[in-house]
Amino acid sequence: MITVMEVRAFSDNYIWLIRRDDDPRVAVVDPGDAAPVKRTLAEHGLEPGAILATHHHADHIGGVRELLAQCQVPVYGPAGESIPGRTHALRDGDRITLDFLGLTLEVLDVPGHTAGHIAYFGDNMLFCGDTLFAGGCGRLFEGTPEQMHASLARLASLPPDTRIYCAHEYTEANLRFASRVEPDNPDLARRLEAVIALRREDRCTLPSTLDEELRTNPFLRAHVANVKQAAESNTGQRLTRPVDVFAAVRRWKDAG
Ligand code: ZN
Ligand code: FE
Repeated sequence: MITVMEVRAFSDNYIWLIRRDDDPRVAVVDPGDAAPVKRTLAEHGLEPGAILATHHHADHIGGVRELLAQCQVPVYGPAGESIPGRTHALRDGDRITLDFLGLTLEVLDVPGHTAGHIAYFGDNMLFCGDTLFAGGCGRLFEGTPEQMHASLARLASLPPDTRIYCAHEYTEANLRFASRVEPDNPDLARRLEAVIALRREDRCTLPSTLDEELRTNPFLRAHVANVKQAAESNTGQRLTRPVDVFAAVRRWKDAG
C-alpha cells in the first residue's frame, strides 16, 4: 500500500515522502531543505529512492544537492526549468514509473506560478507544488492569468476524489480570503471552521480532495455566479469571461 508522509520545512512548506509499507525507499517531492528530510528518513529507517521536483524555486529544490551527496538517486523535474542534478527532464504527457513503489505518475504541464511548472498525478494523488493550493492557488510570478486559469482547469478535470498534496500550509489564510469572496457558501464556512480547528492544534490540513476544492476554492470557481458578482463589485468592472473573473480574484487576494 502507498502512503504519503509529511515533512515540514521552513515556516510553511511541506516536503512529501511517498512510500510503500514494505520498502525503505521513498520518493521525495520538492525537497527545499535536506535537513528535515534526513531527520525523518533516519527516524523511520527510510532512504531516498527518487527525487521529484515541481518547479525551480529554492524552497522546492534547495535540498536536492545535499540529498544527492548522501545517495545517488534519479531526479525528475520539469524540462523547462533549471533543476539541480536532474536526470529526467519531463514534459507534458510523460509518464514516470517508480519501480520501488510500483507507482506510475503522469506529468502535467501547469504553467502560471512559474513558466515550466509541472504536476505529478497517479494513484488518485496529485503533487501540484505551488499551482493549486488548498483553498487557493499560487501567485503568478512567471505566467499570465490565462495560463494559470488553463492549468487550474486541467487539474479541476481530474477525478473528484483526487487527493491534493500541495507544497504549502496556506489553507487557513486561503479560506479566510475565500470567505470574503463567497460569504454565503455553506461548504466553505464548514471547511474554514474545520481548518481553523486543525491549525489551532498545529495539524496539517492536507491532503484535501479535488471535490472539496471544487466546492470551496474561489480560484476553481470563476464560472460561479456569486464569485463573478463578488469580483465585479471588488473591481467595479463588468467581467465577461471566467478568465477575467479569475484574474480579478487573483489581484484581489494579492492586494491583501
Ligand atoms: Zn514556488
Ligand atoms: Fe513554494
